[in-house]
Amino acid sequence: MSKDKEMNPFKIVQEQFDSNAEKCGLSQPTREFLREAEREIRVRIPVEMDNGNTRTFTGFRVQHSTARGPAKGGLRFAADETIDMVRGLAMMMTWKCAVVNIPLGGGKGGVICNPRELSDRETEKLCRGWVRKVYDFVGPEMDVPAPDVATNPQDMLWIMDEYDTIARSRKPGFVTGKAVGVGGSLGRMEATGFGAIYCVREALKRMNINFKDATLSIQGAGNVASYALRKFSEYGGKVVAISCWDANDKKAYTYSCEDGINPEDLFAPGTLDKFGTIDQKKAESFGWKQEDADAWLTKPVTVLMPAALGSAVHGDNVNEIDFNNVKIYAEAANTPTTPAADKVIKEKNIYLIPDFLCNAGGVTVSYFEQVQNNMNYYWPKDEVLQKLEKIMIDAFNDVADLAEKENFYPRDAAYVIAVKRVAHAVESRGWVKSS
Ligand code: NAD
Repeated sequence: MSKDKEMNPFKIVQEQFDSNAEKCGLSQPTREFLREAEREIRVRIPVEMDNGNTRTFTGFRVQHSTARGPAKGGLRFAADETIDMVRGLAMMMTWKCAVVNIPLGGGKGGVICNPRELSDRETEKLCRGWVRKVYDFVGPEMDVPAPDVATNPQDMLWIMDEYDTIARSRKPGFVTGKAVGVGGSLGRMEATGFGAIYCVREALKRMNINFKDATLSIQGAGNVASYALRKFSEYGGKVVAISCWDANDKKAYTYSCEDGINPEDLFAPGTLDKFGTIDQKKAESFGWKQEDADAWLTKPVTVLMPAALGSAVHGDNVNEIDFNNVKIYAEAANTPTTPAADKVIKEKNIYLIPDFLCNAGGVTVSYFEQVQNNMNYYWPKDEVLQKLEKIMIDAFNDVADLAEKENFYPRDAAYVIAVKRVAHAVESRGWVKSS
């Protein structure tokens, strides 16, 4: 494996920040302050397992910034979780909330565990144990977790319930991504995938490409990918490939269909499990062709969308992209592109929609969830999605306009907008002098 593939998200995000600090005109003290997290917490969580043995899990919470509002970001359960992964993603959350201009900071949490090996009961104990350990440092006005890789609305309800139990009060705004009817917002499931496609639609408009002529290939078949597929198809485009990790075969596959994957097939009962794995027999029955893991990347489509993994596109596979046909590269996953691959994409002049803009729909609706919790009044789904669409379109156009005006790569334009907003908050509060 090349060194490039092994780059951790913290290094990637910190390097991106460093390379844009100059363009943002940051003072040295502000730059120094923002390149690391405000607070990092490491906890050990003992859990009595179903077999009666106790296992101790290691967890993290990193609060990169609280300058514009409470830290905001998911809680991940992953066997290969590291503090650097959490640091990088926390920093990215700061820029994500800032680029869509919502009044929140950036945070992230993680627990080192294999979620597939945990029973529901063990997962509940782990969620509650995590809250007990981080309780003093989180809360609706300080740091608000949400679902992320391998955590779900049920986990968030256990987390909320444990927080309420300790606080002896009702604080539904402590955590977002809760189930609808128990403090959750309608539209949260759709938010990230739909938000990414709102950006793609605006980019296609700028390139004078008719949606009906557009094709899409996606890495992933989970929450983000499946709703991106649904929205893209609804607008009249054709999704020709998706991919997933198959835990039985312990490898990834691409599933393709030249006539377009029908969203009704993807969302039919039994096609996807809760981890976003496609059932092979179902795929065969729909006529989808099973191909290699990276086949999604090679398709001659209008839009390529990595929506599964960090560092999915790297120095060794970036040249498999069909640069004659692909017009837009929309990063729906977090840090899906290593710096070496990013350099190639930039040189080839493909239109990039950077990750912290492209996938900001999720955190935007999480913010709406908090607002609704505070009002104790809930909007219909249409209203949530309309509000989301407006925020995504405005943010996309701010970034695209700046990129055009200053001849910036769109990732750099997004950084300049986001970092300047956060620096303004940090300096206005008097935390750091502006010069
Ligand atoms: P998910 O767990 O629902 O789905 C992940 C998908 O990736 C699954 O289909 C899985 O099979 C697939 N996958 C895993 N390894 C793979 C591999 N090697 N090759 C191909 N596919 C593989 O996750 P999600 O919520 O859809 O998130 C996807 C990405 O988007 C992650 O990077 C996440 O951090 C990011 N993201 C998600 C949200 C959100 O609201 N869900 C918001 C912002 C960013």
